Amino acid sequence: MTRARAGTAAAAAAGALRRSGSSAGRGRKRTSPRGGAPAPTPAPPLARHHFSDLAEVEALRKNLLAWYDRCKRDLPWRALAATEPDADRRGYAVWVSEIMLQQTQVATVIDYYNRWMQKWPTLQALAQASLEEVNELWAGLGYYSRGKRLQEAARKVVSELGGHMPRTAEALQKLLPGVGRYTAGAIASISYGQATGVVDGNVIRVLCRLRCIGADSSSPAVIDRLWDMANALVDRSRPGDFNQALMELGATVCVPKAPLCGECPVKQHCRARCRVEKELAFASQKLFGKPAPVPDVENCVGDCPLCPPATEPWDSSLGVTNFPRKAAKKQPRAMRTATCVLERRGCRGGPEYLIVQRPSSGLLAGLWEFPSLQLAQDLQEKKEREVLADHLQAWMGQPVAAKGLRFIGEVIHIFSHIHQTYVVYSLPLDGDVTLDPASPSRWVTEEEFHASAVSTAMKKVLKAHEKQHRKETSPGKGSKRKRGAKPQGAGSTCPGTQLSLHAFLRAPTAP
Ligand code: SF4
Repeated sequence: MTRARAGTAAAAAAGALRRSGSSAGRGRKRTSPRGGAPAPTPAPPLARHHFSDLAEVEALRKNLLAWYDRCKRDLPWRALAATEPDADRRGYAVWVSEIMLQQTQVATVIDYYNRWMQKWPTLQALAQASLEEVNELWAGLGYYSRGKRLQEAARKVVSELGGHMPRTAEALQKLLPGVGRYTAGAIASISYGQATGVVDGNVIRVLCRLRCIGADSSSPAVIDRLWDMANALVDRSRPGDFNQALMELGATVCVPKAPLCGECPVKQHCRARCRVEKELAFASQKLFGKPAPVPDVENCVGDCPLCPPATEPWDSSLGVTNFPRKAAKKQPRAMRTATCVLERRGCRGGPEYLIVQRPSSGLLAGLWEFPSLQLAQDLQEKKEREVLADHLQAWMGQPVAAKGLRFIGEVIHIFSHIHQTYVVYSLPLDGDVTLDPASPSRWVTEEEFHASAVSTAMKKVLKAHEKQHRKETSPGKGSKRKRGAKPQGAGSTCPGTQLSLHAFLRAPTAP
């Protein structure tokens, strides 16, 4: 529907309401004031949620693409997609970017992407990498299973598909593990020019605003409708650019909290904005005591599955950000984990830390961490210390004194579904330990720690430990020992020396 036609229909609807004497009611059903038959329906249900006018669709495509050509960000994967002549390499380059961009900001991804493509410029190179290398490069990017799945899928392409990327969204989704509908659509449209739409968080926001979709945007009914809309809207001659433009609009202009509607290239097609303008006009007329026109852009009549629920009607203070709406987010689960920074003096005088590898499945699979133990929620501090000592003891096979564990502090890290509190302890060692060969573990310098496949949470833990150490060793703070200095009674841990477990277990005096 063009703007003019929308205006006409809306005006007719408003006229009908005025004739019936109704105010700007927002109820789902309107009846005449005389209690007679329901008032005339202003528009067919759902019509305002569609792009049914081809001329409008064409105009929207044109405006959006012209804006994208002028304003798009210069991003490394876009350059590769535009210039790489080899179709498999092109598909791979887009695929890597799409996986990295899931749940992660563009600014964060750029450096990871450049390093990744430098290290593994082809599917074949990635297929030959070890999971340890992949985890190392991915460290800090979060959602670590993404890197692992990407590598597994690359191996599949090389071993089962002759090294050739599938060329359509359907085949990509079907054949590549970890590639869902969105990623498949993005690769196929951007790399291979398939006219297929994409729906991600940015697209959801833009489409919901363009068409006043206020029902729960994570519900299957709404998501299905948005996919239909994205597939109908995508430009047939420049599908990849169109999809990127829609996402770019959501990322830079139609942002969640304060959208820049004045700068928006598709504002003339936006029904959320239209509604805001009508509401403002309505309010100003009312202020000056003029007969108030009835806002003509309202919820559909009847049980529209795309309108906001009657329990959460339009809120004028929110403006266009009334859309989209999401069901209340599930609160993240609270978890407490005791973790112990085991530190020794390395042969070059600097500190070394003991890290152990997590299991190959589950949260942070295959990453390295300080020895850690999940705690029950209601444990007392004394008890936490004891269970951590018991854990270390079971791992070492020898007693560890709970009082020897030095409390550093608590470190909070929020995973997508877990509110994790790390209760951090440290245990300075005066010698090496005989490590259990069944549990992957190793000593690392600070530099090696940061280059290892460790999570951001563990980096925070080390930072807390270092901060505490600086505090203790700063002048006038009753320094116990200098960083890197030989602890009391410490032995050298140069390569080749393997001190006794007994030395490890000789816990220092508690502070
Ligand atoms: Fe988003 Fe505003 Fe543009 Fe509508 S006009 S699409 S709300 S930025």
